[in-house]
Amino acid sequence: MNSSELILVVEDEPTIAEAVASRLRSEGFQVEVAVDGPTAVDRCAALAPDLVVLDLNLPGFDGIEVCRRIHMYRRVPVVMLTARDDETDMLVGLGVGADDYMTKPFSPRELVARIKAVLRRARSAGSGGPSLSLEADGDTVEIDPSTRRVTEAGRDIHLTPTEFDLLRALAEAGGAVLSRDQLLAMVWGYRDGSGVRTVDSHIRSVRAKLSADLIRTVHGVGYALEASKAGRP
Ligand code: CA
Repeated sequence: MNSSELILVVEDEPTIAEAVASRLRSEGFQVEVAVDGPTAVDRCAALAPDLVVLDLNLPGFDGIEVCRRIHMYRRVPVVMLTARDDETDMLVGLGVGADDYMTKPFSPRELVARIKAVLRRARSAGSGGPSLSLEADGDTVEIDPSTRRVTEAGRDIHLTPTEFDLLRALAEAGGAVLSRDQLLAMVWGYRDGSGVRTVDSHIRSVRAKLSADLIRTVHGVGYALEASKAGRP
């Protein structure tokens, strides 16, 4: 096990927070504790934990709001703690984005087993390649190949799979010009140069979805990213 993994425990009941924290430390994790919603969001941004254990009912704002805010910036795995089973059902129905749920009272040993399973899944989902961070017009556009998620200034951009692959191909080219034929080959797998208008129409729809003017047309050649900085965070 990786002893450098950091878990943020967000829990306002001191006895539960202490029991969970000490169990996790004895398993070799680094642990930080936050006791209310606003502090949890701040700590998450400052520490970039590998996983967050998140109580639902918190002072300040609740675990649903914490989850929403921390996922605006990064898809950190979350294990949510609830007071009742029907709360878990409600959260799953809302699609709040936690990776697992535990109902109180729970055994710290069981919680640690769940945490390890979520971390294992997160590591294997991360095999889609490193995420790409682009800056244009003062906006940051993040492209995460493992989740196929794109955000612009923290806002989700809903691209079709083809639009995603097109944007990713341009991002990975790091500002170099790609011809329509190259993009057809990379994204659609066409090798014969047919269907260049397909590229143009998909470029138009990606442009319409992003507010930053990210994609540059190189007349007579193809497309490139207008990004002032294209690189890996
Ligand atoms: Ca609580």
